[in-house]
Amino acid sequence: MAQVPHEVAPELFLQGIAASDGIAIGPAFLYAVQELTIPARPPGQPNVEIARFISASERARLELKSLRESVLLRIKGEELAAIFDAHQMMLEDPLLTEKVNTKIASGLTVEQAVAEATRELAELLASMQDELFAARAADVLDVGNRILRILLGLPDTALNNLQAPAIIIAQDLTPSDTARLDPELVLGFCTAVGGLTSHSAILARTLGIPALVGMGANLLETVKLDDSLLMDGSTGLLIVDPTQETVSEYREIKRKKDALMVGIKANAQSEAHTANGRHVEVAANIGEVETALEAVEYGAEGVGLLRTEFLYLSETRAPDEDKQFEIYKEIFNVIGPRPLIIRTLDIGGDKPPSYMPFPKEMNPFLGWRAIRMCMDDTGLFKTQLRAILRSAVGHDIRIMFPMIISLDELLCARGLIAQVENELAEEGKPFAKNVPVGIMVETPAAAILVDVLASASDFFSLGTNDLTQYTLAVDRGNEKVAGLFQPLHPAVLRLIKLTIDSAHSKGKWVGMCGELAGMQKAIPILLGLGLDEFSMASRSIPMAKHLIAKLSDERAQEITAHALSLPTAVEIEDYMKTVLAELED
Ligand code: PEP
Ligand code: MG
Repeated sequence: MAQVPHEVAPELFLQGIAASDGIAIGPAFLYAVQELTIPARPPGQPNVEIARFISASERARLELKSLRESVLLRIKGEELAAIFDAHQMMLEDPLLTEKVNTKIASGLTVEQAVAEATRELAELLASMQDELFAARAADVLDVGNRILRILLGLPDTALNNLQAPAIIIAQDLTPSDTARLDPELVLGFCTAVGGLTSHSAILARTLGIPALVGMGANLLETVKLDDSLLMDGSTGLLIVDPTQETVSEYREIKRKKDALMVGIKANAQSEAHTANGRHVEVAANIGEVETALEAVEYGAEGVGLLRTEFLYLSETRAPDEDKQFEIYKEIFNVIGPRPLIIRTLDIGGDKPPSYMPFPKEMNPFLGWRAIRMCMDDTGLFKTQLRAILRSAVGHDIRIMFPMIISLDELLCARGLIAQVENELAEEGKPFAKNVPVGIMVETPAAAILVDVLASASDFFSLGTNDLTQYTLAVDRGNEKVAGLFQPLHPAVLRLIKLTIDSAHSKGKWVGMCGELAGMQKAIPILLGLGLDEFSMASRSIPMAKHLIAKLSDERAQEITAHALSLPTAVEIEDYMKTVLAELED
């Protein structure tokens, strides 16, 4: 992280990776996963230890009450409030009090007693057959940690405790953390680690939250709670204690950008056409119902990627078939007749859900992830396929598998769809028939084998986040190698070209749902390569359509031919800067 002390003012400039556009100004909220270390001390008199438990529980009760009240004002507030109601009940559960008292009587300190009692209660719940009870285990531990934290005199830094608008400063945010962020309270976030296509960065773009990632290890030491902050998600700049002058300057930049976007957004409901009138499909990447609403608002013609894993990551347990059925139905209702590509579960890698025992792996991105994990846990996979097929009746839907590397893998996955279809038919349940099935091209193996895979794939969608990671052997979430993560690297561009050419020669269409599809610097090249569909974060759609309208196919092909003739990513990036500047004139 570059630190540039300002010459005249006290403001401090920190540089990170610009992960999600937008300017945010507000106080810092430090989010750290707290280590609750139980102090090694001799126990006091039991009545003193019990009195401390009673007083800590009372504090916890008041915290939960105020949290409940503040979340009720949010979108989906009722749902969140219900969580805190459940915590309140657990806090008041006589079984917890009895256990804690017994442990104190047997000679434990109150901290030890609370930790042991809540752990035992959580284990008891986790062992129950009833899934609902089992899912409560995490809540009991949460309640135990709240009491323990109060006993240890530590401040509350959990993300769902945010009560006033703030900029989150964190070492890292998991996709589950990010999925639970309230866009109304989170003005933006900055993390010490992470790269441009780490999933929390993607989520930030989807939610429209400005974000900076990869700010370096000392971010959390430099920024203090309630420091006044200004962040610019387009340049990667974070300013600590900005002067009034700087704040006014950035407010003006934001005002101008917002005004420009109003004009561009107003045109976004029309279809995208190149300057010579060719229609190009511009679609949205979504994660759930809220982002489906946004897709429609920002002019998506369809959904090129529904990342279903976010349904799993934002929950405390895997959603069952009926719950998924309801959610998919709700999404279909929002998007109406627009086509939707639903990607089957892609967890693992940097997206392990908190409630699933994922093994610790040396190389999680090369490991038990996506289709590999689904083919091993066919119960989980079939539940999802059933929900998809049942909910899709009467809708324009396509199924897409992630991380495919071979024809046999694709055939096996298709085999499971056939099995599920037979089962549903036997059960007499209505389901969508003849649903087109395609794959993500996000491994070099898939790109090289498109001509072979075309025999079993109805369409292809380039996942350039992983394709770049796997082609260049560069971890997409590691800030240390973020400079090497170059989706416009000639090797990646060649694989994109190969994919499009091979698919077209087999009569199959190719889309792109990796982040590259929404990047202005890439759109002219992708147009020139003949990409059939561009799918991106909804907020990028108006600008993408605006840019496409300025380019003729002939001009795009010229740009592409020149870009592909350049030997390095840096030269391609530089060339594309000149192209964009020329298009702006
Ligand atoms: C990709 O890899 O480009 C992609 C779209 O999938 P994800 O980012 O969810 O891994
Ligand atoms: Mg991917």
